Amino acid sequence: MVQERILVTQSSMPPYDEFIQAIRPLWDSCWLTNMGAYHKELEIKLKEYLDVPEISLMVNGHMALELVIQSMGFPKGAEVITTPFTFVSTTHAIVRNDLKPVFCDVKMCDGTIDETKIEELITENTAAILPVHVYGNICNIEAIQNIADKYGLKVIYDAAHAFGVKYKGKGIGCYGDASTFSFHATKVFHTIEGGAVTFSDKKIYDKLYNLKNFGIRGEDLVVAVGANAKMNEFSAVMGLCNLRHIDTAMHERKIRYQAYREKLQSIRGMRFFEDNPLAGKNYAYMPVLITDDYHMTRDGLYEYLKQKNIFTRKYFYPLTSEQACFKNKYKNVQLDHARELSKRVLALPIYEKLDMQNVYRIIDLLKG
Ligand SMILES: *Cc1c(COP(=O)(O)O)cnc(C)c1O
Repeated sequence: MVQERILVTQSSMPPYDEFIQAIRPLWDSCWLTNMGAYHKELEIKLKEYLDVPEISLMVNGHMALELVIQSMGFPKGAEVITTPFTFVSTTHAIVRNDLKPVFCDVKMCDGTIDETKIEELITENTAAILPVHVYGNICNIEAIQNIADKYGLKVIYDAAHAFGVKYKGKGIGCYGDASTFSFHATKVFHTIEGGAVTFSDKKIYDKLYNLKNFGIRGEDLVVAVGANAKMNEFSAVMGLCNLRHIDTAMHERKIRYQAYREKLQSIRGMRFFEDNPLAGKNYAYMPVLITDDYHMTRDGLYEYLKQKNIFTRKYFYPLTSEQACFKNKYKNVQLDHARELSKRVLALPIYEKLDMQNVYRIIDLLKG
């Protein structure tokens, strides 16, 4: 029997009729973008859901990151301490702002930046720290903030994986100077393409507004040099529909996540990242670590599952610091843990509509 292809993720879709009904007034209004009614409504609803003081919607998560970095006005060539164990967008956003990434190693327990190794990387040119809550695992926020305060650095979190996660009872987007989210189709919550910046300093809102809308402040008035990174109204409506179902979506993911965890933890050579008891989870990803005790290598397992029509992903391999466009260009730092994780990690399929039968089939294949 030919098995269906199972990909690492599948976009959440709101009920078709609900979406069609929701776009009717948008259709009739002929107002498709430029901060329309749905854009405003989504900003309000997301501010509430994410439990953050301020939010600015963006065309995608990458531009959210690129523009919030730009809004901070760092001097050209300044250094930004960041993690190489991430999606390449994080590093691109730094480099495209004419800043230098300084890669810092990560912790084996959760893949986030190793806060004990940040201080030794700080120089007189350091402007900011840009950590990633990778797979929704929360960085050591207190330690990072202490370092930032001591040296007068900005902290920008790439929270693309951490939608809806609470930490110590507050929205994850409340921490640092700003956090960025991705609402790409493959993320837990999506607007097809989209993203946002969250922050508490209201001045950032105005700066981002200029950067995402050509600096236009009146029919005849352009006050700043800006790009175009606005979220359109169709995306905003998709977001409003998906937001109504987000709790169900996360609950369905949780069931699959727990089934994997329960059944896989007894397998020799398979490990997981540690959970942080003070942080919530959104079950966005199902990363596992393949150690030497497992009966196959990570790459062997990836190929084996692929032959069975199960398409896992090596998130995140290679490290961004190893990619052709960045390799050997920046400060050479020991990245042993990051390298080790990127060699061992495999993201298993997890999404709302993933059939439980398929979860059990994948578990059986992993048992070997
Ligand atoms: C998805 C992602 C981004 C980029 O978001 P887009 O919406 O695809 O532009 C940035 N950083 C991380 C860690 C991501 O996973």
